[in-house]
Amino acid sequence: MTFINIVALTVTAIYLMLGGIVYAHSRRQMSEIFFGLLSLCLTAWGLATFLTVSTSQSALLFKIGIYAHYVAGNLIFLSFFWFSVYFPERTKRSLILPLLITLIDSVIIFALILSNFLFTSFFIDLANQKQVIFNNIGYTLYTLCTLALFVAGTIILFKKYKRQHDANKIPILYVFFGSIMASVPALISNLILPAFGQFTFFAMGPIFGIFFVICIAYAVFKHNLLNVKIVATEFFVSLIILILVIEVFSANSILEFVIKTITLAAVSILSYLIIRSVLKEVQIREQIEQLAGDLEKANEELARINQAKSDFISMASHQLKTPLSIIKGYISMTLEGSFGKITKMTKDQLEKVFISNERLISLVEDLLNLSRVEEGRMKYDWSEENIPDIVQETVEEVRVTAEHKHIKLIWKSPTEKLRARVDLNKIRNVIFNMLDNAIKYTEKGSITVAVTRHDTAIRVSVTDTGRGISAPQIQKLFTKFTRIVEGKSNLTTAGFGLGLYVARLIVEEHGGRIWAESAGIGKGSTFILELSTANQGIEKGGKNAILK
Ligand code: ADP
Repeated sequence: MTFINIVALTVTAIYLMLGGIVYAHSRRQMSEIFFGLLSLCLTAWGLATFLTVSTSQSALLFKIGIYAHYVAGNLIFLSFFWFSVYFPERTKRSLILPLLITLIDSVIIFALILSNFLFTSFFIDLANQKQVIFNNIGYTLYTLCTLALFVAGTIILFKKYKRQHDANKIPILYVFFGSIMASVPALISNLILPAFGQFTFFAMGPIFGIFFVICIAYAVFKHNLLNVKIVATEFFVSLIILILVIEVFSANSILEFVIKTITLAAVSILSYLIIRSVLKEVQIREQIEQLAGDLEKANEELARINQAKSDFISMASHQLKTPLSIIKGYISMTLEGSFGKITKMTKDQLEKVFISNERLISLVEDLLNLSRVEEGRMKYDWSEENIPDIVQETVEEVRVTAEHKHIKLIWKSPTEKLRARVDLNKIRNVIFNMLDNAIKYTEKGSITVAVTRHDTAIRVSVTDTGRGISAPQIQKLFTKFTRIVEGKSNLTTAGFGLGLYVARLIVEEHGGRIWAESAGIGKGSTFILELSTANQGIEKGGKNAILK
């Protein structure tokens, strides 16, 4: 057997392997089916070529080989033509023209073969030389049909290439170049040259086809998202097994045969295990990729909804804040007598309106703070302040509200000055929120506010005799939209469950802490805010502020 024959046979085996592997992994799309057919025809063609060149005695085998070679040769281009129709996707054009081309081609080829019109004679002469005499008209007709299929397939691919968008052009390009690189030399060596009695390169034809198969196989993997890793593993493993099988059959002694058979069996088992593990790994990875993709989509959707919500909250609260501030201004002026004397009864009622309005302003402020935090618009303006002063001012601010609920407000002022680096307005807001909550969630009794020093820390504590908080709930208080609903009590109290969440973010930005303590439901609760004293420096904003 000549070297060329061995290479041609190996390449033929590769056609079969690649075609089989792609087909086995395919989702049975038309382009994959035609690729399978193309590989099958190439295999048949390779074997027929081998038969033609290697038979030295039997004229019948030679005749069968020649016939099979030319039938398979035409079928290769017919499969390529249909592959082009379906790859990457079929265009909306009707299938009438391709079907008509197929019909004409098939009729001509079968008529040529059946009527013996393709060859005049073929024989093996006395010098063991194989001779084929072609019928000129028949052979020209055959050549035209085969070339027409090749040209038609190439034109279809070229048109699709021009119409595709950038990323989708690549697979078509592979098929395009693969087909040209393989077909042009193969057509010359096995179709054109034999017409002139030149069979020198006949055996090489199947070798050129390798470009075709590899390029198309790659394009199909890429486009149909078959996993290249699996296919490559399977391909190389099959190749090794094929070589080992050939080795087994070429053994010279029984011992060599046994050793090679055992090697073949061991490699086959190992290969099976490797492929199985690769398959598993790829499957898991695909599942993870799919889940990650789903998650990403869900996240994007959530982010979009979240943004829409934030935009709405931000817009609505801005719109609400201005009229509420105007109402507050007019009520204050009325209560102070700026528009003339008012009766005690009117004053009492107006105070109620004022408190409700304050509540609304505080709610809107919570919403505005939330959108500021979420959009990263919270700006800090650092200054050194005496914390007890801020607490005292806030206590005075809520006094009217507490008195209206008949709750005793006790303010335990420290004797010393306790200074910290803070954003005055924001810390005032936090303290206001602690006091406001204490009044909101206390029906009777008292609220004690104290500022104390603990080493280098300043603690503001607000202790009430209100409804208290259960241990599991205490953990959740400082998260977004947390409202504790014990019975229906909280449903009637105004609030969004945002105040403590925003308070925590502000306090953390100060390098401080805020937490709650409670002996349980009905046993009151204490909210504690802790800040570092000014000369200790505060980790975050405070420190920066000192450096400034
Ligand atoms: P809001 O008061 O607007 O609902 P907050 O974030 O200020 O939101 O408070 C969250 C929840 O914590 C409240 O809904 C309430 O259930 C609980 N809470 C806050 N302060 C107290 C308190 N002093 N006593 C009992 N529960 C409280």
